[in-house]
Parts: sequence; C-alpha cells; structure tokens
Amino acid sequence: MIIFKSINKLNKCIENIDNIGFVPTMGSIHNGHSSLIKKSKKICKKTLVSIFVNPKQFNNKKDFINYPRNTKRDIRILRKLNVDYVLLPTYSDIYGAKENRLIKIPKINKILCAKYRPGHFEGVLQVINQYLIKLNVQKIFLGEKDYQQLKIISNFVRKRFDIKIVACKTIRHKNTFALSSRNQLLIKEDLYKLSEIFKILKSFKLKLKKSFKYKYKISDVKNLIRKMGVKLEYLEMRDKHTLSKKCNKSNFKIFISYYYKKIRFIDNI
Ligand code: AMP
Repeated sequence: MIIFKSINKLNKCIENIDNIGFVPTMGSIHNGHSSLIKKSKKICKKTLVSIFVNPKQFNNKKDFINYPRNTKRDIRILRKLNVDYVLLPTYSDIYGAKENRLIKIPKINKILCAKYRPGHFEGVLQVINQYLIKLNVQKIFLGEKDYQQLKIISNFVRKRFDIKIVACKTIRHKNTFALSSRNQLLIKEDLYKLSEIFKILKSFKLKLKKSFKYKYKISDVKNLIRKMGVKLEYLEMRDKHTLSKKCNKSNFKIFISYYYKKIRFIDNI
C-alpha cells in the first residue's frame, strides 16, 4: 500500500493504469467504508482510498472540530484490506489548486440535507471535482447511506467525466441503523436509541408498502421519534429516483435526519 499526501504525485504513479476504483471518504473507517473498498477490489485492478475531512461541507464549525479522526487506525485497516493507494491530501492541495472552483448545485436539489445544510453539497462537489480533474480513475464507489449525495455526485460526474458510478448498499449495525463515523462519538448505550428509531422507520415502511394511505400518519411517526429525545430535522417520503415529493407505493423511500446528543445522523430506507 502506498500513501500519498499530494494528488499530483499520486497521479504520476497511477496515470498509466487502467481500471482503478476510487473510494473517497472522510476517514474513521468502518464496515460501511470497507464494503465499498471490497467491492472495488472485486471489480477493479487497483483500489484508491482518499481521506479528507472537508471543512467546506460542514456548516457548523463545532461539528467539523468534533468529527472523529483517527488516521493511524484508518491506515491499519486499509492495509489489512489490501488497498493499493491511499491519498491524504492537504487543505491547500484541494483548495489552493488553480483549477479549483465553487460548484453550485441546481435549485431543484435544495431539499433534504441541502435545505438544512447550506453549502454542504457545494463543498462535497468541490472536492470531488478536484479529485476527478486530476486523477486517472475509472470507477467511483459511493454509498446509498448518503443517498442524496449519491444522486448529486452521480448527476455531476455523468455530465463531466467518463467515470462509472458504482452505488453500494447501506451497511447496518445488526440490521438496524446505518453505520456512520459519527457513531464513534456515542457510547454503546446510545446506539440502542438509534436502533429504536430505525425500528420505528422500518415498521412505518412496512405499513406503507401494504397501503400508501398510511402516508398521512407521518406526523404520528414524527411525534413518536421526537418523544425519544432526539431533535428531528426532517422525515420525508420521496421518489427514490427523482427525490420528488410525488411518490407512490412502489417507488418511495423514507429519508430522515436527526440530532441525538447534538450529533447529526442521517439514514434512508
Ligand atoms: P464518509 O466518510 O462518511 O464521507 O463516507 C464515505 C463513503 O462511504 C460515502 O460514499 C458514503 O456514502 C459511504 N458510506 C458511509 N457509511 C456507509 C454505510 N453505512 N454503508 C455504505 N456506505 C457507507
């Protein structure tokens, strides 16, 4: 495994290789990330993982400061997974580059996380764009856990780059909540609360699958979740392809964002 701190140096090393799979992350590697890496290793000749905690995608300074970081542990895990290349870019490598520019997201996308975290997806796209302009990669692996991000990056990449997006299923803790780096900020007992919230969502989803008339019960579900001591940011049903509010029994997904112990979690089922 070769570790690079510069995008240009990394690209010099990989520019002649075809079929490179790329897994961009913010580190604090968990089994959700590992599943993307394993998928890349299965279908690509070489696998590249980047770790960069991008300040521009945090609209709250405290959230950025408190975001879990453990590069030494991450490197150990990536070595075990037999990753070929790791990129740990510096801030100036990303934001100091002359090609770097702010990318606006279409107004139509200002829903869900984009509505509550202004500038978040612009920050995400700025980094992704910087990577893809410079790096010779053929496939990029993204998790469905960050479903809106997957859609926004896919639309962006499809228009500008000849790179295939590989969407990967959400990996969950014992079939309940989605694994997230932020889980590391909680103690074991707190995870129980996350499982309970997931169970409420799952049972609501099952009801909706039976009959979509239950959609009118969403305010009851919101109340139930609020009673669990979490601050609900949004709970919405949307079309899983277009993210439009117009959805039906066969194409809907439930999207949630909430704060528990001042830590923000998102999920979708
Ligand atoms: P992050 O480090 O949180 O920015 O995530 C890096 C990549 O891993 C993104 O494409 C995420 O969607 C994906 N990811 C994070 N958590 C999970 C999970 N539980 N299951 C599947 N993919 C995930």
